[in-house]
Amino acid sequence: MTEAPAAVRDLVAVRDLKDLPKAHLHIHHEAAIRPETLAEMGAAEGVDVSVPDHFDDFSDFSQTYRGMLQVLSIKENLFRLIEESIEDCARDGVAYAEFGASPHFYVDTFGSTELALDAMIEKAREYGAKWGVEVGYMITADRVESPDEAVTYAKTVAPYAGRGVVSFGLANDERGHPAAQFEEAFRIAKEAGLLATPHAGELAGPDEILSALDVLGADRILHGATAVQSDELVARLAQDGTCLDLCPTSNLLLGVVPTLEAHPLKTLLDAGVRCSINADDPVLFGPGILEEYQLCRDVLGLSDEELAACALSSIECSGASEVVKQKAVAGIAAWLA
Ligand SMILES: [Zn+2]
Repeated sequence: MTEAPAAVRDLVAVRDLKDLPKAHLHIHHEAAIRPETLAEMGAAEGVDVSVPDHFDDFSDFSQTYRGMLQVLSIKENLFRLIEESIEDCARDGVAYAEFGASPHFYVDTFGSTELALDAMIEKAREYGAKWGVEVGYMITADRVESPDEAVTYAKTVAPYAGRGVVSFGLANDERGHPAAQFEEAFRIAKEAGLLATPHAGELAGPDEILSALDVLGADRILHGATAVQSDELVARLAQDGTCLDLCPTSNLLLGVVPTLEAHPLKTLLDAGVRCSINADDPVLFGPGILEEYQLCRDVLGLSDEELAACALSSIECSGASEVVKQKAVAGIAAWLA
């Protein structure tokens, strides 16, 4: 048998996931730092930024996060994180990144939350233009802190809607810190025009996802993996087109799923739920977004059509500009053609 000509072989070649336009919607900005950059900054400042080799509990990575915040409180280091994380987005085929950010961490560095946010937005614009990646910030409240703090935070960032901030999030351990406590903060954020993008359904079950939807008015759910425990909730998510911003490796390492193969992404897609694929905290968990897409192909058995559907959901359900959305949607169709 003669070998197929090169042109024919190319036609059946595996599509490169790097070329699939995608949005990264569930990515905590500090944790998007390159491991080698973090190690270098830690050594320079004498700060322990070592990453645990396994996680027995959600709280295990808090220590690393504190170390990261310490080195990133140096202005040049924060700006380097912003530049390198955006360069990495470009490398992974990310057209739009919705970084989860907490500018109040940098009040001592810049003088106020607003000045920190101004500086972050300016740098994200500068490096986004350089690397061809649009950035919209998701300002993330901490559910372990008091709901009043979240209200103050929402009031502070509401004026930034449409000026670099696109969404309002809620992160940290759900257990003992129910979403419903944050109703007022999310009302303020939504009235300002921000998307409501709380974490829910990671360490808690479907009830927390329901609270996020009904009380906080969630436009997307960060995680939401435990939705599969309720057929009724799955049907509702599918009907409403609510996107779940899933993070398979994070779910595995934090014990949300026993194995990667057991991750519910494919089940949710089969049920018609919109899902995006994300890395959550790559410096802690390992894979970046491109590797997560690869894992979904290799381990979860997602077809190219399913991977493209996830990319499409990530773009369409994001806070990206219409120009970026249209270009990415066309790029996704071209990738699949
Ligand atoms: Zn997260």
